[in-house]
This record gives sequence, structure tokens and C-alpha cells, in this order.
Amino acid sequence: ARRNPDEPEFQQAVLEVLDSLSPALSRHPEYATERVLERLCEPERQIIFRVPWRDDQGRVHVNRGFRVEFNSALGPYKGGLRFHPSVNLGVVKFLGFEQIFKNALTGMGIGGGKGGSDFDPKGRSATEIERFCQSFMTELHRHLGEYTDIPAGDIGVGTREIGYLFGQYRRLSNRWEAGVITGKGLDWGGSAVRTEATGYGAVLFTQRMLERNGRDLDGMRVVVSGSGNVAIYAVEKAQQLGATVVACSDSTGYVVDDKGIDLDLIKQVKEVERGRISDYAQRRGDARFVEGGSVWDVPCEVALPSATQNELGAEAARTLVDNGVLAVAEGANMPTTPEAVKVLRDAGVLFAPGKAANAGGVATSVLEMRQNARRTSWSFEHAESELAETMAGIHDRCEEAAERHGARGDYVLGANVAGFEMVADAMLAQGLI
Ligand code: NDP
Repeated sequence: ARRNPDEPEFQQAVLEVLDSLSPALSRHPEYATERVLERLCEPERQIIFRVPWRDDQGRVHVNRGFRVEFNSALGPYKGGLRFHPSVNLGVVKFLGFEQIFKNALTGMGIGGGKGGSDFDPKGRSATEIERFCQSFMTELHRHLGEYTDIPAGDIGVGTREIGYLFGQYRRLSNRWEAGVITGKGLDWGGSAVRTEATGYGAVLFTQRMLERNGRDLDGMRVVVSGSGNVAIYAVEKAQQLGATVVACSDSTGYVVDDKGIDLDLIKQVKEVERGRISDYAQRRGDARFVEGGSVWDVPCEVALPSATQNELGAEAARTLVDNGVLAVAEGANMPTTPEAVKVLRDAGVLFAPGKAANAGGVATSVLEMRQNARRTSWSFEHAESELAETMAGIHDRCEEAAERHGARGDYVLGANVAGFEMVADAMLAQGLI
């Protein structure tokens, strides 16, 4: 805290990991003598830069760009870019720190990083987005490379933005280097299932966790927060597995749709028209829009927070418990506050932390890089079966680590310890750098 004042999200993310590590630290005294923890908490490199751009009226704007290259012991830095007005160094550091352990858990040899800008894409025209992305990449490109640092999307950055970013990188580098960025369009180097991967993966993880406890998603009521990339595909996979998703949200409020969210309509409203969740409710007779309220008031058996950090607090957690929630899995990064996690776990609710449950996106990014390297592209079915296998592997790695440390069923401890041990061992092996 002394070293990183004004970075509450980063402090929260670090404390959450430290809380889980005492069993690993006591078994490995070399982690302490070599100060692995201190080294892990300090990013290898932090880049902050100016992003000037001109809007459609000719006015000049100046935003701030970030890339935190946190840890490359296991592979090149890998992590998304977020465009949202709430982005600052502390937020990027929290996301980058989480990414180290998440990427380790995939077992795919990738380091952790994250970036973004305080640019607000809401209400901006496509040409403004294009100019912003070009300006952003004009500085960022010198730090990237398929063996160095490989960004992807996150909040506010989808296939359209990745396209503009990749185009500018290609122009500046004079190289068609597909492996430098992931989340590309299907006809220019992207992978089938990348768009769906984080939401699908979170649900596949949840299903495996439920099965281990003698339950099944089939027939359950599910609530998903957000209505962006992660949320929409969490809804899709949950419905494919027989659940009814009765509510989702955006930053203005939530919709309740007892018959189950109409997937075609929500994709039309959010992905094609880039509209609001209230537009969905207006066009869907039975659905109800609740302005401002908490989506966690809607009774459900499974909750999938998939919007943003600290969106599910202790009070909401108590409401979920009172309404009989059985499982909570984080589609977003750190959406559940530490107090809320405690409420859920004390009540015996199954809890899957984001660094395990939402790792399907980054894992599929690596699948995209593999296809790029081999100049091939897989079918949807093949990519999806690889994703399913990866999520099962991540689940089992967490489960095994928790059991090994005498904490059966504790996915928080399992994810933190398993991820940490992999990174720490690689750092020790590579010497003091
Ligand atoms: P999108 O931009 O596609 O969607 C974000 C959704 O969350 C929107 O519905 C948005 O509503 C809502 N939201 C964002 N900020 C806030 C806020 N401050 N308060 C309330 N609602 C908010 O982003 P993604 O779906 O890609 O990302 C969602 C989460 O998942 C993030 O935590 C991200 O880090 C994480 N994640 C994403 C991955 C990916 O592959 N995309 C991979 C792993 C994790 P509105 O439109 O009103 O702002």
C-alpha cells in the first residue's frame, strides 16, 4: 500500500492472492529468501503514453494510454486492452496482476500484461473510434511483437477495434504479423470461438464445478450481469446446457425476462445496433426493465457476474444467499468484493474466481496464435472442443492444488496457489531478473 498509494484495485488484487499463499510459502522457503513475492508485485515494465486524436467536429482530445508488462517468466506478455473512462494505472495493474496467474493456469506458456486507455467509446462514431485506435497503436506498436507482448480485447475493445489496431500495426511495421494481436476477424487471421470463448468457458467451468457436487446446470435459473462480449456468450452457453437465463444488465439497469433471454434479440440490440439493454426490454413483450437497480435482486441458482470489477458487494451477496444461490462464477475480472466472497463462502456457495473461470478467452487467444503460426484455421467444433478441454484442465488444476493444500473445494485457494507456484518456479529457475 505504501509503495502503490491511490491504487486500491491493485492492492485488492494483491491481497486476495497473498491471502491464499501461506500453505505454498511454508512449503517453499526459497520463495521467501529469493523475494519472489516482492518481485512478482512489481511489473517488469510500465508504459504510459499520450493519445491525441481529433473528433468528427475537428476538436482535439488527449487521452492517456497504458500498457503494463507485468511478468514474462512463462511466456510473452499477454492480456487485453480496455477502453473505459475508469481506466487508470491502478486498474491496469490489477488486471495485469490477475492475468499473470490466469495465464499460468491455462498451462499454455504465456506471461501476464494488460493495457488500455481512459478513452470513452460511448457515443463515438466509427471514424472517431478508428482515429483513436490508430493514434493509440502509433505509440504502442514499438512495444509489441509476437514474442514480446500480444494484446487482445477487453471492455470497450471488440473485433472492430482490434481491426483498426491491427491495421495500424501492420502499416507501421510493414509486416503481416498475425500473432501480434488476438481477437482478429475470422477472415483475417481470427479463430472460431474467440468471440464466444470467455462466456462459454465461464459456463463450462461452472458446469464442471456443479457436476463435482452432484448437480447440473440443466433446469437451473441463471442471472448474468453485463450484456457485453462475456455476458452474451455466457447466456448462450448456459441456455445450450438447459438453464434459463432470466436477467442481464448494463450500466443503466437490468432486464428480467422470466421466459429466458432472447439471444437473437440481445445480439441484434447490443452487437449490431450497439444499443442499450432498455432497448431490448422495449422490444420484448414479456421483459421488464429496472432502471438503476441491482441485477442480484433477481432470484437465481447460479450467478455469473460478467460486467466489471467490484460490481457484486456484500449486500448483494446476502440477497443471493437468501434467494438460494448455489454457485457464483466470475465471468468478469474481480467482480466480487472480498466481503461478498466471504458472505458466499460462509454460506457454502460454490465460488469460482475469475482468474480460473474466465480464462477461456485468453486460452482461445493462444489457440488463435497456434492457427496463425501454422497458417491454418480450425472449424468451430474443433476450436470449441479445445476450449472445453482447456477449461476442464484449468478446473482440475485448481481442484488438485486445493486438495494438495488441504482445502478441498476451495477454488480461490486452488487457483491462486496453482498459478503462483508455476510462475514462482519459473522465476526461480531463470535467476534474479
Ligand atoms: P464489454 O465492453 O463487451 O461489456 C462490458 C459490459 O459490462 C457492458 O454491458 C457494460 O455496460 C458493463 N459495464 C462495464 N463497466 C461497467 C460499470 N462500471 N458499471 C456497470 N456495468 C458496466 O466487455 P467484456 O464483456 O469484454 O468484459 C467484461 C468483463 O470480463 C471485464 O471485467 C473484463 O475484464 C472481463 N474479461 C473479458 C474477457 C474477454 O475475452 N472479453 C476475457 C476475460 C475477462 P455499459 O455498456 O452500460 O457500459
